[in-house]
This record gives sequence, C-alpha cells and structure tokens, in this order.
Amino acid sequence: MALDSNRVIIAGGGPVGLVAALALGRAGIPVTVIEKGDGPQHDLRASTFHPPTLDMLDEFGITPKLIEHGLIAPTWQFRDRATGPVAVFDLGLLKDDTAHPYRVQCEQWKLVGFLMDEIARLPDVEVLHGHALTSVEQDAAGVTVTAEAADGPVRFAGRWLVGAEGARSPTRKTLGIGFDGMTLPELFLVVSTPFLFEDVFPQLSPINYMSDPDEWLVLLRTRDFWRVLIPADPNAGEEHLLSDAFVRAALKRVHATAESAPTLHRTLYPVHQRVASTYQAGRVFLAGDSAHINNPLGGMGMNGGIHDALELARLLVEHWVADDPERLGVYTRRRRPVAYDEVQAATLRNRQILNERDPAVRNARLDDLRRTGADPVAARNYLLKSSMILGLRQAATVQ
Ligand SMILES: Cc1cc2nc3c(=O)[nH]c(=O)nc-3n(C[C@H](O)[C@H](O)[C@H](O)COP(=O)(O)OP(=O)(O)OC[C@H]3O[C@@H](n4cnc5c(N)ncnc54)[C@H](O)[C@@H]3O)c2cc1C
Repeated sequence: MALDSNRVIIAGGGPVGLVAALALGRAGIPVTVIEKGDGPQHDLRASTFHPPTLDMLDEFGITPKLIEHGLIAPTWQFRDRATGPVAVFDLGLLKDDTAHPYRVQCEQWKLVGFLMDEIARLPDVEVLHGHALTSVEQDAAGVTVTAEAADGPVRFAGRWLVGAEGARSPTRKTLGIGFDGMTLPELFLVVSTPFLFEDVFPQLSPINYMSDPDEWLVLLRTRDFWRVLIPADPNAGEEHLLSDAFVRAALKRVHATAESAPTLHRTLYPVHQRVASTYQAGRVFLAGDSAHINNPLGGMGMNGGIHDALELARLLVEHWVADDPERLGVYTRRRRPVAYDEVQAATLRNRQILNERDPAVRNARLDDLRRTGADPVAARNYLLKSSMILGLRQAATVQ
C-alpha cells in the first residue's frame, strides 16, 4: 500500500477532480489525486463559466482569477446565420439570483492551473501525475485502487474513491455502471483565430449560437481569440477536416474576409449524450464527464461536473465521521436528475434550434426565442435554466 487508508482517493486531475480535491482538502480531509497525464493538461475544451459556478468558486478565491485571465460576457445570443440577431439574453436579469450576473469566458486549462496553485497550499492533498487508475476493489471498510505508473503498478488505499477520469472512466467501467445514451452523427470542429469577427458582424455578443439549416455555427470570444465551432462530417476524414483548405473554406463561409485569417488551434471532437445509471456504488462515486457527457452547445458539461464535485465534497465532509455509504445515496438522487432534466434536455434543444432544416419548424423555434428574449420575465426564467441555477435549486430540495 502506498498510503494510509484514512483519505479520499480521486482518480483524474481535470477540473472536476481538482475542485473536489480542493474542497475536501480545505475541510481538512486528506486527499490523493492520481492523474494519468504527466502534468496539468492543456485542455482547450471548456471556455464558459456560468453564474452559479462563479458563485461557488468564489469561496476558494478562484473566480477573481478566472475574471482576471478571462473575459466577462454580460450577454449571449441566438442568431440566424443569414439574417443576424434573434434574441440577445442579458445576464443582468439574474442580478437578484447570483453575485455574478454574467458568464466568464476562460479556458479550462487555466482553471486547472489555478486549482493546482490552491491545492499546493494544502498540507494533506497530493496530486500524483503519471499514475493511471487501472482497477478498483472495495469492501465494507474502504477502497483499494491500482494505478499504472512509470515503475509499474502502485496500490492506494482510501475510505472513498471519486472517479473523475472523464468520459472513458475506468472506474465506471470496472464497476460495470451503465452509460446509456447516444453518439451524435456529426463531429464538432473547433478552430481558434485572432480574426476580429466583432468588426464584421454588427451586435455580436461574446457568445453567439447561430442557427442555419446547412451549417450551424458558434462564435465564442475568449480573451485572446475567437473560437469558431461548426459541425463536420465524420466520413470526410480527420486529415481533410483539419487541412488548411477545409479550414479556410469554413472560415470564408463564416465571413468572406476571414478566409486567410491565421488559426492557432484546430480540434475535432466526437460528441456523445450519455448519463451513468448511478453515480455511486458503495464507497465509489462518479463525478463530471465520467458520470455524464453532452454536447457543448450551452457550455454545461464542466460546469455541471464542478457542481457534482462540490455537492459530493460537502456530503463526504458531512458524513466523514458516520462513514456510512447508505447516507451518501442523496448524491445520486440530487445530481443525476440535473444531468437528465437540465443538461441533456437543454443541450439537445440547443442543437435542434441550431440545425433545424424544416423551414416552418425553424421559424417557429426562432420566433419563440425572439418572444422570450423580448420579455424580461420570460427571459429571466429562461436564463435561470440556461445558467444552471434552476437545476441547482431543485436539486437542493431532494433528500
Ligand atoms: C469543444 C468543447 C467545448 C466545451 N465547452 C464547454 C464549456 O464552455 N463549458 C462547460 O461547462 N463544458 C464544456 N465542455 C465540456 C468540458 O470540457 C468537460 O465537461 C470537462 O472537461 C469535464 O471535466 P472532468 O474533470 O470531468 O473530465 P476531464 O476534463 O476529461 O478530465 C479527466 C482527467 O482524468 C485523467 N484521466 C483519464 N484517465 C485516467 C486514469 N485511468 N487514471 C487517472 N487519471 C485519468 C485525464 O488525463 C484528465 O486529466 C466542452 C467540451 C468540448 C468538447
């Protein structure tokens, strides 16, 4: 055994695993994080932080850093790619619901860095890079995990295990927990560029979802560049989709003057919509992408994972002395319905709004959004859902 067993083991040092480690460590609970990568991952995926996540991370001193190294987005919008703005949502309508009535655009790898800095101050939280969890065993008293490291397998003992190793979670697979759902037929291509889209599109927000029957588009501003997200045909082949010719043509379709814009990153993502059948098996929990994955239209995956991590950490602290897995069942009961009813529903609906081909249905959906955006009461209700506040409020009532 590499360690004493009176601690929480967290598999995965991504945003979700590290938030859980920080929250537990700050409460005085010893933690070991085992992370497969050799160092913090330079992950470009998430860029949006919703208001309640900013409220939660503020408690750890992280939110001011996200703001300092990111960009405040006071509004976001739906557009028709051909005709322009449909509905502009002003997050200021949430001023009585959150201390942060805006979204913050900041890359997820920056969050991982800030979390590592905070964790480094804690006496009994360690992050072991280069350790890939391979198997999990548990009995009534605790868990034992095996990780593959450079010098061979290492075993760790703990009281609880949090599987936060992302979508392919070996923890979830080892325990045989189902992960039903579907894989979307299209790939998502993300390209970042310093091209100034705000100079060529009037009334752009930092976050723009653009509906189009042929090729929907998302334009996301981060501090240093724009991220362009479009659907791509998996049959076209990765090499072609990432080629200069394809990317230039795609940028030209966004705006004629963007054709020769430089690009900094080009990444293709397969996208899935899946939720684990349970988030707990005895002394083992799932959190973040290991428990639920969804398309990024709405920016909810990492935010929901952070909400999982903080709810789970709170429950583990509360029940540390009682040490009874049955008392922790409330974690699945609170967090799993949010993944279905809020996140899966919203992200699939956003995709439908963006890619609808039937003109009548498309117009009806856009008209509906137009009406919602124009009515402050309806817009606030819509923002409570899309900002993930309502799901948290509902979850808090579950016993
Ligand atoms: C294009 C795109 C844009 C997105 N934008 C947003 C957004 O704006 N907002 C949002 O909320 N979400 C967004 N997401 C989703 C977001 O990126 C994920 O939900 C988030 O990364 C999940 O965090 P996690 O810590 O659960 O998992 P991950 O970030 O996948 O981290 C898992 C960690 O576990 C490690 N690991 C893997 N296997 C093992 C093992 N066997 N042992 C130990 N460690 C292991 C990995 O190296 C990694 O460090 C986006 C996703 C995509 C694809």
